[in-house]
Amino acid sequence: MHGLWLTEEQARRIAQHALEAAPNEACGMIGGQGEQARRIIPVPNVASDPRRCYTLDPETMARAWGELRASGLEVIGFYHSHPDGNPLPSKSDIALATYPDTAYLIVGLKDGAPDLAAWKIDHGEVHHLPLYVGDGPPPEALYPTTPAQRAAIIASGLLALVVTLVIALSLLPPAPEIMSTLP
Ligand SMILES: [Zn+2]
Repeated sequence: MHGLWLTEEQARRIAQHALEAAPNEACGMIGGQGEQARRIIPVPNVASDPRRCYTLDPETMARAWGELRASGLEVIGFYHSHPDGNPLPSKSDIALATYPDTAYLIVGLKDGAPDLAAWKIDHGEVHHLPLYVGDGPPPEALYPTTPAQRAAIIASGLLALVVTLVIALSLLPPAPEIMSTLP
């Protein structure tokens, strides 16, 4: 998983779901092949506190998973929204992410306008994932083929992550227990 490719329509549907679910968090699944999304599947959020976290309804998720498999597709990602926040993984998003090779797409609605970002969360490690929204094929850089291209993508991803962390930390009040989790 080097990136995530959504069509304009798919991105619009995810953003619309997030807006409709607010003030609760919306969540769902992204079916597709490789980096290319083919199906957006809204899933009910059954979390006990849906304004602050999300839990995909297990029955809907299992059924959708089976239907995707039957049509030759895979689950390439999950999406959810932050009704009052930025599209950055929260501490619980990172702790509860269980699929290291899928994309975690987050819709931030902090300023009213949906802001989408994709992440790879691998056993507590967060990596920025290039997100491409467009109806044509993504630029070649999203699918690096040579080691040099891959290195460039990793470097830009790390830079984005550092910038994101700086932004995230600047938004947090000073908290020793948060600081102590830094690498
Ligand atoms: Zn979240």
